[in-house]
Amino acid sequence: MNTSELSIVIPVYNEAGNLPVLQERLARVLGGITENYEVLWVNDHSRDETLALLRQLAAADARHHYISFSRNFGHQKAICAGLDKCRGNAVVIMDGDLQDPPELIPALYEKYREGYKVVYAQRRARKGETVFKKTSAALFYRLMRNTTHINIPVDTGDFRLIDRQVVDYLKKMPEQHKFLRGQIAWIGFRQTSVLYDRESRHSGKTGYSLSKMIRFAVDGITAFSDLPLRLATVSGFTVSFVAFLVILYALYSKFALHQVITGWTSLIISTMFIGGIQLLTIGIIGEYISRINNDVRGRPLYIIEEASQPPGAETGN
Ligand code: UDP
Ligand code: MG
Repeated sequence: MNTSELSIVIPVYNEAGNLPVLQERLARVLGGITENYEVLWVNDHSRDETLALLRQLAAADARHHYISFSRNFGHQKAICAGLDKCRGNAVVIMDGDLQDPPELIPALYEKYREGYKVVYAQRRARKGETVFKKTSAALFYRLMRNTTHINIPVDTGDFRLIDRQVVDYLKKMPEQHKFLRGQIAWIGFRQTSVLYDRESRHSGKTGYSLSKMIRFAVDGITAFSDLPLRLATVSGFTVSFVAFLVILYALYSKFALHQVITGWTSLIISTMFIGGIQLLTIGIIGEYISRINNDVRGRPLYIIEEASQPPGAETGN
């Protein structure tokens, strides 16, 4: 079997508690769509029994395959590995914690049959998420919309169905810092959405720490927007302009008023302020340079340690 009609790509990190339930619910749903499907699990170096469960699953059912990473490469790269190896004409990307209900897949597939190349699942409600997560996500998507030219639909995660053509274009995008929902929006084609209620995590806890979330957000902005760099330039001009006025005032007070300022308050304030702006702008430039640096190295995106099927000739990219 070289191609399937439908592939399901599921990144998993410490999801042993969810795997059996998810597998069962998937089996019930997928059989109703087509017999020719495959489920490709990507184990992102879990520290629980996830890998052992995947080995059993792949041995018991030929439609289930897995790839297992040599270390934790992160959610986005796990999805990329799945996209690299899957063979479906339509590919569904979903989380392994049952927050993305498998029962929505027929609705996604229906839209695909109508001719849409990207069908994203849009959240109607978010259960069991902290207020912090909800507000930070809302703020982030607003920021993304205002700073980039691409339109990332609000309230969508990576849960979606994409056509083979979109998968092939994604595989041609070599950046190390993946922000798939932005890349897919950038690729275009006919896109639509299906609404659903997002459940809370079935079991286990989130693999997205605050630092991973922040890194993900910065990846998204730097990958699609130069606005932070322009802000650095604008703040440079603004501070220089203010500095020019202060210089004029300083010269005037020395030569016309014959006053020499004795206080150090103004000195301290201006030194601190200019120092702060300089560090901030260097930091912004640094964020971009570190991403250029990572891309220039051209390392593989991920390393596969073990797989249920012989992995393709290359690892990554
Ligand atoms: N995940 C992963 N690698 C990681 C963290 C998470 O593959 O380093 C997987 C995880 O198993 C789940 C999906 O990515 O299937 C979404 O992660 P999670 O549910 O922890 O994120 P949240 O829903 O809290 O944003
Ligand atoms: Mg989750």
